[in-house]
Amino acid sequence: MPEPTPESLQQKIEERLRYYEDLGIRLFYRDRRGSPISTGGSHPEISKEPVVRAAREIIVPKPIELPNAVVTRPLERIEPVISPSGPSLFEAVDKVADDTLPKIREDIGDCTRCKLHKGRHKIVFGDGSAKAQLVFVGEGPGADEDAQGLPFVGRAGKLLTQMIEAMGLQRKDVYICNVVKCRPPENRAPEPDEVATCSPYLLRQIDVIQPKVIVCLGAVAAKTLLQTNRGITQFRGQWLEWRGRKLMATYHPAYLLRNPNAKGEVWKDLQKVMTELGLQLPKKKSS
Ligand code: SF4
Repeated sequence: MPEPTPESLQQKIEERLRYYEDLGIRLFYRDRRGSPISTGGSHPEISKEPVVRAAREIIVPKPIELPNAVVTRPLERIEPVISPSGPSLFEAVDKVADDTLPKIREDIGDCTRCKLHKGRHKIVFGDGSAKAQLVFVGEGPGADEDAQGLPFVGRAGKLLTQMIEAMGLQRKDVYICNVVKCRPPENRAPEPDEVATCSPYLLRQIDVIQPKVIVCLGAVAAKTLLQTNRGITQFRGQWLEWRGRKLMATYHPAYLLRNPNAKGEVWKDLQKVMTELGLQLPKKKSS
């Protein structure tokens, strides 16, 4: 009779399975070779037979062909098509000498510059390292973010955190912010005048941080920074040039919660980012 699996270990395994599932890895197989059951994994605790049984005897995620999917493409420019006349959204933004994140936050103050201030509880400025090599830009705060004053802390935020950790990073290693700093009512997309009013602060944030890579989460962030009205599917996962920096657009985690099948695509995009940042890619499992 195998020994019962300690509850703490069961919890760890369940968390690990949820983690894989959140990355879109749903296919598992049982290694029938030998006994006890082999996991093929590197985690010492999940190689024990009782533990494998506790995880319904399906513990080994089927390897996905990720490293091969990391294709280096030449940087492309997205032609601006949103502003046919007048200056682009960012051309009017003056460079602020000796700018800093606290200074930008101070300038925002208790902002009432656009109508989004009416329904907000807290301004969601941004969170993470001021020296981050990687900046994630989302659309705008949701209910949880509005309540806490922090970006990406709801369900979609938890998924983003898992993706960041899957890249071998922690939230404190990156910087996370949004195009608009106040929650749009009913979680609607921010309107053009709201984006135009608030996004110069985003530009200043990026200029201060000077990241190597910017990842736009979703169409609003991508269209705002790239000043394009092309659909995100036309350039998702491609390296683009933005003000001398590398930019990649991918799907928003909230979209992934509604469309889990797209998680694999996002993971491929993040693998490209990992390569660009010199992060170690997951080892390909030998057959
Ligand atoms: S969304 Fe931006 S511009 Fe509008 S009120 Fe909030 S901080 Fe001000």
